[in-house]
Amino acid sequence: MQTQVKKVAVLGGGTSGWISAALLKKVLGTTVDVELVESEQIGTVGVGEATIPPIQKVNQVLGINEAEFLRETKATIKLAIKFENWRVNGESYFHTFGAPGRSMAFCHFHHFWKRAKTLGLKESLWEYDLNYLCCKENKFAQINAKDPVLDLSYAYHFDAGLYARYLRKLSEQMGVVRTEGRVEKILQDEQSGNITRLKLENGKEVQADLFIDCSGFRGLLIQQTLNAGFEDWSHWLPCDSAVAIASERHEQTAPFTRSIAREAGWQWRIPLQHRNGNGLVYSSAHLNKEQAEDFLLKHLDAKALSEPNHIRFKTGRRRKQWHKNVVAVGLSSGFLEPLESTSIHLIQSAVTRLIQLFPHDGMSQSNINEYNAQSKLEYEQIRDFIILHYTLNERTDAPFWRDVREMEIPSLLQHKMDLFRESGKIVREFNDLFHESSWLQVMLGQGIEPQDYHPLANSMSEADLFEFLRRLKEIKNEPLPKLPSHDLFLEKFAGFAG
Ligand SMILES: Cc1cc2nc3c(=O)[nH]c(=O)nc-3n(C[C@H](O)[C@H](O)[C@H](O)COP(=O)(O)OP(=O)(O)OC[C@H]3O[C@@H](n4cnc5c(N)ncnc54)[C@H](O)[C@@H]3O)c2cc1C
Repeated sequence: MQTQVKKVAVLGGGTSGWISAALLKKVLGTTVDVELVESEQIGTVGVGEATIPPIQKVNQVLGINEAEFLRETKATIKLAIKFENWRVNGESYFHTFGAPGRSMAFCHFHHFWKRAKTLGLKESLWEYDLNYLCCKENKFAQINAKDPVLDLSYAYHFDAGLYARYLRKLSEQMGVVRTEGRVEKILQDEQSGNITRLKLENGKEVQADLFIDCSGFRGLLIQQTLNAGFEDWSHWLPCDSAVAIASERHEQTAPFTRSIAREAGWQWRIPLQHRNGNGLVYSSAHLNKEQAEDFLLKHLDAKALSEPNHIRFKTGRRRKQWHKNVVAVGLSSGFLEPLESTSIHLIQSAVTRLIQLFPHDGMSQSNINEYNAQSKLEYEQIRDFIILHYTLNERTDAPFWRDVREMEIPSLLQHKMDLFRESGKIVREFNDLFHESSWLQVMLGQGIEPQDYHPLANSMSEADLFEFLRRLKEIKNEPLPKLPSHDLFLEKFAGFAG
């Protein structure tokens, strides 16, 4: 006899716990009760402040007012990541959320651009990307243009602590029950091995039919109790440590994250309304903790506002992200390092997948297998996109960069790089989070020069091709004079004092 799922318990009150609780309650709240357990004494990982555009879906589903959201989480707008020193020292490129050029039937825009380059065009691909143009001028406003060529796709940088607090408020308003306390004992059904109850240090007990493990890297339910296993990817993504520090912010608010390659990893800079988030992600085989902290402190360009937060991690994924009656969401389900700000997105997509496959009438193994197969593929696709940045570096200044350049990479990734180099063609697998324009920008930015372009790009005369590009550039630039600065937008839209 299968147990109907009427009660869900979420263990953990970090970003993953509160996104899970809020979405589950919002979407399934008429049939399912949601209780969240967290321990203030343990606290959260305290990082995770840059997002990607699908986060807007979460906000829409939760009915979040954007101006209020920006104010409450002290958020800023993110249009791109600027990668500095990644190919070689002194060079940079943007990976924007936009699409260069315009979408063309059968043949991507970049083939036309490539043909024009062979005919003497000087402009970079990014000159045809509105996101890039806005980054260059520090400008932003929502654009409601009818022509998709003027889509300005964006995400946010926000304060992780304030974000969790904001989602907690929304969740509690919707009826999520929050229980404070440290889980010290986990009870299981003797026959099935399913988890039945969590016993807290303060004597409380939490019973549920389904448990969402949002307990962070420790994976208290999925790993420490159910031993679901971990697939280690540190041979491809060797950074295993980070140190994070907040600092004062005086400069204009940039609408992008900075990712600066350093000797044994990379440094992030995330502008929020009230501070900058800074961190160094590094390989402990190439740099020790003291050196990393020292390096980051030396490379802050304003006063530090917090003590250094040191974090150790292992890149990889939980082999079974759903096992028995436990679904791992957030850091307990795996971690791919923060280079492309994908972790919060993985939380959102895990909860979406769970809702789609929700076991209302009890656990079914084929349902669980489907969930696990989908999340495995998603993790692998994102993993390969992150490896791409490392493997293509041409830096000669440090052993770390030589090691990641010389490592063997997944064969599908190698195929994608070879195909692009040879013909300019881009393979985007079904459901890959990263669209063609993302692959294109990073492959070009990291130095792959396609040797050919699609023959369809020859369908225009030379004169028509140059006129097409001239006009497109003009259209992309048209909104700029009317757009406010990013700071002015935040002031007018969300009421921030500049
Ligand atoms: C260096 C670094 C930088 C990152 N940057 C980004 C980024 O820019 N963008 C992005 O999308 N992601 C980023 N991430 C990932 C992001 O931080 C996480 O995905 C996100 O914070 C979710 O964490 P979590 O909620 O799973 O875990 P945590 O924040 O660790 O929360 C765990 C929760 O479980 C509770 N808990 C644990 N044990 C118990 C217990 N025994 N009893 C009761 N409660 C318990 C804790 O109290 C806490 O509430 C980054 C991660 C790292 C390490």
